[in-house]
Amino acid sequence: MVETNALDNMLAQMERAQEYAAVDPSIFERLKHPERTLKVTLPVSMDDGSVEVFTGYRCQFDSARGPYKGGVRYHPSVTMDEVTALAGWMTWKAALVDLPYGGAKGGVVCEVKELSTTEQRRLTRRYTEGIRRMIGPHMDVPAPDMNTGPEVMAWMMDTYSMYEGYSIPQVVTGKPLSLGGTPGRVEATGRGVAIVTQQVFDYLDKDLPEATVAIQGFGNVGSWAARLLAERGANVVAVSDVTGARYDPDGLDVLSLFDFSEAGGTVAEYDGGDLVSNEDLLELDVDVLIPAAVADVITADNVDDVRASVVVEAANGPTTTAADDVLAERDVPVVPDILANAGGVIVSYLEWVQNTQEYAWTLSQVNADLERRLSGAFDEVVSAYHADELPDLRTAAYTIALRRVATAHELRGLFP
Ligand code: GLU
Repeated sequence: MVETNALDNMLAQMERAQEYAAVDPSIFERLKHPERTLKVTLPVSMDDGSVEVFTGYRCQFDSARGPYKGGVRYHPSVTMDEVTALAGWMTWKAALVDLPYGGAKGGVVCEVKELSTTEQRRLTRRYTEGIRRMIGPHMDVPAPDMNTGPEVMAWMMDTYSMYEGYSIPQVVTGKPLSLGGTPGRVEATGRGVAIVTQQVFDYLDKDLPEATVAIQGFGNVGSWAARLLAERGANVVAVSDVTGARYDPDGLDVLSLFDFSEAGGTVAEYDGGDLVSNEDLLELDVDVLIPAAVADVITADNVDDVRASVVVEAANGPTTTAADDVLAERDVPVVPDILANAGGVIVSYLEWVQNTQEYAWTLSQVNADLERRLSGAFDEVVSAYHADELPDLRTAAYTIALRRVATAHELRGLFP
């Protein structure tokens, strides 16, 4: 079977859901294309005095339901197609969890590990200048994604604000707490993954404290998901990063791994469990598999060897449609990315609302709101899955999201 890239995968997921969502075909056709994508060239002074030229993108996929929203990733494999797929996924995600946002995504082609902090800062400022005319607190609100975090958001907020002449914290979310960030944003995506994992277990009538979990990816999302799942009693037996995976059938000491990684250590360097490959991790005999790294990791090539009984997609686009079919046939529930990793954008929304109101909530208010919104969305997906006899949870999630976005287009009407 021919495998697909992220954009082909996103479009195939839409087509599949359209069989059931049956939104107006002309609106559906419109929704297959982003509203606009900007490609920017970013010359940056390096510490050694040379100039390196980077490429960046910002794709604004759809804005029918509100301002564009979505993260910025720094990664060598960023392409226009990938950014477009991710902007599409943001559109469906925001609609599914019923936030008043459209979807966008940005990216810069770079290897962050090879850049000093000052080089990253200059690159971020130049990128922000490059996309400055597209973003704004009511226009398009960036946030962290792969290899970006509060520090990058602080530089983006500062660059945008310097041009405007006053501080505009709500132009980005995921900021440091001292700049109007919200408590709980850093761990929000991982917390959301833990919440939906608990929910899918309740739905399947299984006990999470008995369950074994393997997590591919130990960045912000994977490490927090591991920690919060362990707090709920799950037995995290394997985690990985780009350097490899650690596997202990009796369970890993997640807190010590978390601290080791925070201090800059890699999973391969960690002394605990057996060292196995990322591919091996995907094929472990566990109850829950959580891909929390890059797209397209569960494919037609390895899906037959995936032995987990539940997949929770913490990454964006980790399962190809060909692999989805095989998992559905085998009755392996896949909690789709647009639901499983929506915790991040939900708390981004809370941050944006708080900045707009110039009022801050407590961590317990933020976490309670996150849990309420995500649980509500999970229940809606499960209800749609049963009521409309849909083939899988992804199709159910897309059906809800597509209908919401299409309704917004219908109500607004076609311009001019
Ligand atoms: N990058 C995150 C995502 O893929 C969060 C986006 C946001 O908070 O706007 O959902």
